[in-house]
Order: sequence, then C-alpha cells, then structure tokens
Amino acid sequence: MVQLPDRVSRLEELAYDLWWSWTPDARNVFRTLDYPLWRLTAHNPVRMLQLMAAETIAQAAQNLTWVAQYDRAIARLDSARAAEHTWCADKCHPVGGRSIAYFSAEFALHQSLPIYAGGLGVLAGDHCKEASDLGVPLIGIGFMYPQGYFHQSLSPEGWQEEIYEKLNWADAPIEPAITPSGKPCVTAVPLGNRTVLVAVWRVRVGRVKLYLLDTDLEENAPWDRELSARLYGGDRETRVQQEIILGVGGVRVLKAMGSEPAVYHLNEGHAAFVVLQRIRDFCEKGWSFDAALEEVRRTTVFTTHTPVPAGHDAFPFHMVEHHLSGAWGDLGAYRERFLALGHYDNGSGPMFNMTALALRTAASVNGVSQLHGEVTKQMWQPMWPGTRYEDLPVKALTNGVHVPTWMSGEIDRLLKKYLGEDWLDHHDDAAFCERVNDIPDAELWAARQSLRAFLFDFIRERAREQWTERAAPSRVVAAGTMFDQNTLTLGFARRFTGYKRPELIFSDPDRLARILNAPGRGVQIVFAGKAHPADEGGKHHLQRIYRRSLDPKFGGRVAFVEGYDLHVAHFLVQGCDVWLNNPRKPLEASGTSGMKAAINGTPNLSIGDGWWAEAYNGRNGWLIEGQADPNDHGAQDWADAQAIYDLLEHQLVPTFYDRDAQGIPRKWVEFVRESIRTVLPQFSARRMVKEYVERMYLPTVNAGSASVQP
Ligand SMILES: *Cc1c(COP(=O)(O)O)cnc(C)c1O
Repeated sequence: MVQLPDRVSRLEELAYDLWWSWTPDARNVFRTLDYPLWRLTAHNPVRMLQLMAAETIAQAAQNLTWVAQYDRAIARLDSARAAEHTWCADKCHPVGGRSIAYFSAEFALHQSLPIYAGGLGVLAGDHCKEASDLGVPLIGIGFMYPQGYFHQSLSPEGWQEEIYEKLNWADAPIEPAITPSGKPCVTAVPLGNRTVLVAVWRVRVGRVKLYLLDTDLEENAPWDRELSARLYGGDRETRVQQEIILGVGGVRVLKAMGSEPAVYHLNEGHAAFVVLQRIRDFCEKGWSFDAALEEVRRTTVFTTHTPVPAGHDAFPFHMVEHHLSGAWGDLGAYRERFLALGHYDNGSGPMFNMTALALRTAASVNGVSQLHGEVTKQMWQPMWPGTRYEDLPVKALTNGVHVPTWMSGEIDRLLKKYLGEDWLDHHDDAAFCERVNDIPDAELWAARQSLRAFLFDFIRERAREQWTERAAPSRVVAAGTMFDQNTLTLGFARRFTGYKRPELIFSDPDRLARILNAPGRGVQIVFAGKAHPADEGGKHHLQRIYRRSLDPKFGGRVAFVEGYDLHVAHFLVQGCDVWLNNPRKPLEASGTSGMKAAINGTPNLSIGDGWWAEAYNGRNGWLIEGQADPNDHGAQDWADAQAIYDLLEHQLVPTFYDRDAQGIPRKWVEFVRESIRTVLPQFSARRMVKEYVERMYLPTVNAGSASVQP
C-alpha cells in the first residue's frame, strides 16, 4: 500500500468502504486521482492504492480541487455512517439497538469482490446498499469465496470454459473481522464428526456491515479449506456442507461478534440451517423444542426467489444427517422433529428440502413480484394442508434496484437539473418523479446518444483486448466490432439457461436477418451472460448464439460480450436502446436487469412475466404476447418469436427511425421518458427496502416475544 500523505490519510478508509462506489463525489476522488489506473483496475481503489506511485498521491495532495473533493467525500462518509437523519431513524424504534441479520449465499456489491453469480447476489448487494442509505441496521452474512465465481472464456468454437482464479485478497475491499475482545474472529463449526474453523472477513458497506465466512485456514484439512473456495462450484456433498457453514456458522459468528439480531432474514433457502443453530441455542437455555421453534419462527423472515424446481436445494436425508451429526447438541433429543421440518416430496420421493425448512420456520414469507407471490402459493400449497388458498401465509414484495448504483452519470445530470440536486432523496416518490416530464426531448435524446456511444467504446475496447490476446479474427466480429453507432441496439444479458429462451429471437432466422439488415433502418443485438458450470444445455444455447454472431447472414449485427459481471452490466443496461427479455412464463420470478435499464431510459421489450407483468403500462415499453397454448412449448416459442418480429417491424423500428427536423425521434423519446418516470420510483430498492422494513421486519419485532413459556 502506498504511503499516504497526512493531509489525505483517510483515503485508504474510503477505498475500503464500498459506499464510495455509489457516491459520485467519492467515485470522483479515485477516478481523478489516476484515471488510467482507475480504468486498468476496473475501478478498484484498493488495488489502485497498491499500484500507485508515491509521487502521484503526493502531487494529488497538493491539488486544491482534488483535496476539496476528498474532504467532501470524507465528510459525507462520516455522515452516512452516523445515519442520524435517515428514514429508519424515525421508523425503526421497535428494533431498538439491535440489528437485522441478512443471510445470503451471494452478494454482488462491486466487481472487485467476485462473490456472486447473478441476480440473487445483485439483489442482496442492492438490499445492503439501500439499507445503508435508509439507516436500516442490517448485518449481512455470506461467504468469502477465495476463487469466487468463474471467469468466462469462450473457445474459438464458442464453448464456455470456466476459469477459477484465486483472488488476491490484498486487492479486495475486505479486512479481518475483529471481535469485541480485540481478536480476529475465528469460529468453530461442527461438520460431520469433525470441527471446521471459519475465519471472518468484514466488508464495509456504509452503515451496513457484511461478514464473510472463509474456511481456507491452515488449521483445516485440505478438503475443508476448499469448502468455501467456489460459489456453486461443487457437488451436492459440498453444497450441503457449505450451507451448514453458512447457517450454523453464521449464527455462531454473529454471537462471536457480539450481535444479537432482532430479525433473521433468509435470502433464499441456502441459509435455512440458521434455524437449526438458533433452536439449539434456545434448547440449551432450557426451552422446550416447541417454544424454541415458535420463538425462532416469530423472528425469521424468508424470501424465495424462483419457481424453477432446480433452484430449490434438496438433499437425501442420509446426506443431511451425516453432515449434521456433530451439530445437534441439546437438540439431539428432537432430531426427528427437526428433520421433519425439511421433509418434502416433490413426487420423486422424500428429501430434505431447504425451502420447505425455511417455509416451516419463518413467520413472514415472500415471493419477489406480484405474480411470483401467486406462483409461490400454488407451488408450495401442499406445505399448509387444510389452509385455504387465500389464507396461505405468502406475501408478494417486488424486487427493486439500488438507484445510485445503476443510474448513469448522464441521466443523473438531467435529473439533478430538472428535478433538483437532491432528487435522490425523493426518488421513490411517484408524484415527485412526474417532473421527469420537464426534461426537454433534445436533452433526453442527447443523453441516450451518449450512453450508446459509451457502450460502443466499451465493446470496441474489449474487442481490441481480445484481438491482442488471442489474435483470432472471427472473435473480433463476434465481439461487436462491426456494430454501427446509430443503429437501434437490443440488449439481452442474463444467465444462459433454458427457461430464459436465449435463442428465441432466432426462431425464424430469415425473417430476423431481414429485420437486422434493413438498409438505413437496421437493428443489432448484443448478448452477454454465463451458463452455470453444470448446465450443459445453457452452454449449448450460448454456443449457438456465438455461432450466430459469426454467421455472415446477420451482417455482423449480432455480438457476444464475454464475462458478464457488474461492470459489463452497467454498460449494457445503460447503453442499449431496448432491453429484451423473453422467458417462458411464469418461470422468471422477477428479473431486475430490466429495471436497471428502464431507469436509464432503456425501455423493455419483454414477456409479461415477473416484474414486467406489473410495470408495463402500454407506454413505457412493449409486451411480447404470442397467442398459443402455453402447454405446447414449441407453439408458444414460435408465437412469441413472431410477436417479437411484429413489434420490431411495426413499432420499434419505425418509432426509432422517425426523426424530426432536429434529428430527434420524438415518439421514441416518449418511451424513454415514460420508462424512467414509471420505473424509477416503483422499482427502486428504496421502495423495496422500506417495504421489507414495514411489512416484514417491524411486524416481526412488534409481535413481542413467544407466547409459549420456555
Ligand atoms: C442485474 C444482474 C443480473 C440479474 O438480471 P436478471 O434480469 O434478473 O436476469 C444478473 N447478473 C448481473 C451481472 C446483473 O447485474
């Protein structure tokens, strides 16, 4: 680490608090400090401080403008951490001085901390950031995966290869977590008939803390050191052990760190073993199993994220029993009763199902969109025999995105100018957002043109890197170098998996080719995304799309950008003209990339599934609605593809290319404006986290303590 001059001695502290990443003043401190290094490190201030020359920083400390910027950022950081005048300061009295523990197997906070795979992680990261902004006393618990999720590399044939690289911990914004007694936190977790030690890293996210569990300690056996190495990288045995570490270990870590959460929020079933350790703790204080279960249920909140069966972890009972054998303690007498809490038979025999465990042990359960709330009820109704459908205890609480994280500088500038410098303070207020109507067409269109240009710079730079590294001409075409800056550009970036139907738009290649290649009114499509390492089908989809990008029939108008991550996502959601989403309904529980796009004026062209079913209003984007029997997948796919072509030919293309004398597509700009105006307030993480506090956390706290006596 470079020696910091006294005048700017807190720069390191700023670099280690991810709060900088969503605060323009703080971002600019690093951005202007050494712009080439900022780009070279993909915006990683911790790494910048490792690499930086002492003279650079010494010079900066003499630069009055930069130092003033630094002072502003530090003052804002202190005030964010103090959280004195936040929304929660007024609201959260019932929580007292206690915290909300938020458990998740992945957190996507920044590309410098690769501990996420996709949407679930982004949601968790956005939840933490917004909790910090609102002053909600949240503590996140997750995993430090030293090898993270994989880097994607495509073979010349377009086959995905997964590269796991050991993270250089000195480059990540993590520090050892220190217990109240001043020692680095190391916690013992019983696993099978042995004990695994878990080290704990702390990540600062403004006011919110995140603890990351790590088994890569010298004291552990080699196979135990590997347990936390990779996110979703192992087999079922690895997975169940990871989940025991997260749940059982996570509760122990909170205790070691001196926290006593008022509420435990399980973000997806992966963390449901939290309830095992908690019931055990009550039993060891002399409570009965029933009283302990009731108290744990009263203080547990559970969010389920997918209607896709493979998304719900289930393990054979013998496997669970084997790995839990050391975890029981005084709960041992109730082993059978505990195991019964996870019992679920989806038709292929009884299994220990993590979602079933969470559903039976949480007082508050929610799906992540209005539609997904209903789908969740239908899917899990057998869990509540005798309960009427309308009384099933499942709420719908729609996802949102952290606006300061996903908002582009260009649109932010316009919002500051026309809604006020403090627009962020009111951004979940729909009436306030009406003022988006005051932004002149010309300025909105100019912002969109700039955002598209940034995307093209990014695509070209990536292509240049590939050319340098691998010197394969075909790759350069596949990477989007033939793209034209003034052509209507669709974006499709998400995990490659069957239900998202990534190849749908190629259903009728000839018709698509005519649309893409129309002279002067063409269309181009940029794809990005990873397939799960074990999803062969997903990899085949990806490969076939890659081949399309090389097919001369499409004239270089189809591109694939490798290595989809938070960094790539920013350029894509902001720079494309239209965000395409065509899942098989109703399998997309929510989807959040479309929200990120919409708040930047990139309207959605989507199936009415997940969030879009409640966001689409006829003027803020387009609805894909092929008419067919939904049980006949082939017919539905064909009908949906035809609907996309019809919309492109008759609506999107004419609207985009119809310009007035000043070169502005007035009707298109209306879609841009309406997209921002309607999605910004309603699909913000601000609205979402407020709802979690009001509908999930506070009722839990207010319900008082257990009615059953210990
Ligand atoms: C937002 C985001 C996702 C989730 O997008 P969906 O629309 O839910 O598929 C996945 N990966 C990255 C990198 C993201 O930024």
